[in-house]
Amino acid sequence: MRILSFGTTGQVALELARAAPLVGAELTQVGRAGADLTDPAACAALIAGAKADIVINAAAHTAVDQAEAEPDLARTINATTPGAMAVAAARRGLPFLHISTDYVFDGSGTRPWREDDPVAPLGVYGATKLEGERLVAAAGGPHVIMRTSWVFSAHGKNFVKTMLRVGAGRDELSVVADQRGGPTPAHEIARALLAIAASFAEGRGTTGTFHFAGRPATSWADFASAIFERAHLPKKPRVIPIATADYPTPARRPANSVLDCTRIRDSYGIGQPDWRTGLTTVITELETSS
Ligand code: NDP
Repeated sequence: MRILSFGTTGQVALELARAAPLVGAELTQVGRAGADLTDPAACAALIAGAKADIVINAAAHTAVDQAEAEPDLARTINATTPGAMAVAAARRGLPFLHISTDYVFDGSGTRPWREDDPVAPLGVYGATKLEGERLVAAAGGPHVIMRTSWVFSAHGKNFVKTMLRVGAGRDELSVVADQRGGPTPAHEIARALLAIAASFAEGRGTTGTFHFAGRPATSWADFASAIFERAHLPKKPRVIPIATADYPTPARRPANSVLDCTRIRDSYGIGQPDWRTGLTTVITELETSS
């Protein structure tokens, strides 16, 4: 199975690089230098000429607050270019695996979101990712749009690394407690993408949108407590739960980000990973590599 994948430095991209050899996949990754997502035609041309059986897009404009200030750039990277990539893949009949987000929802209610629930993004990031989903689907080729949430790993920027950085040496730390979601280890996303790729390679792939997130649902404050429980810090900060209103950010975030992941289990046999296990793995990696 030959995979062409966009993104080399991101959380999911790095985990794809680690996981692909374990499943015997031949992975070619292209980074910003080889394929800049601000250039839709160049990215599409790469797919048109690639020796690949499957295409994965692991690159995106993920800076949620920054996107509010640069909507055009976010739109090109998250929507226009993935759309062009999907068209190029569809022309060759190559399955296109694309990652999207819980931020396509407005966060209302308490029920976990299903794939067909109404979307209503609260900010530019979510809106551009949603537009990307629609363009990928409209390209008409075999594809999977995997919506995930609260991604963490030992690399890049994420909540786990932020908590360890800002919490070190503090007595207490205020963390938002009224947003709920499913933290998802990037290595589990990579594994799931490779399993889906293998299904397509065997002619068993199902096109559509699928939710994939860690369980059990939690709040940022409880996630922070779990991080400090596992980390070997000289002093562990006490987590003070606060309201979203007390921690204003340029972009609004959904209060209920919990994704119902039944469909991916039924279609692909991929279950929800327990983020607590993934968190232990990631913290061990961070502590042994530093
Ligand atoms: P990261 O922010 O870790 O990585 C993003 C990647 O995109 C980087 O490799 C980055 O490259 C690349 N990229 C950004 N702009 C460009 C560009 N113009 N041209 C080429 N490459 C570019 O993302 P994650 O791995 O965390 O996210 C993977 C996917 O998951 C994304 O689709 C994201 O929307 C989605 N997602 C992420 C969540 C999260 O919590 N992080 C939550 C829900 C969904 P460079 O390093 O050069 O900038």
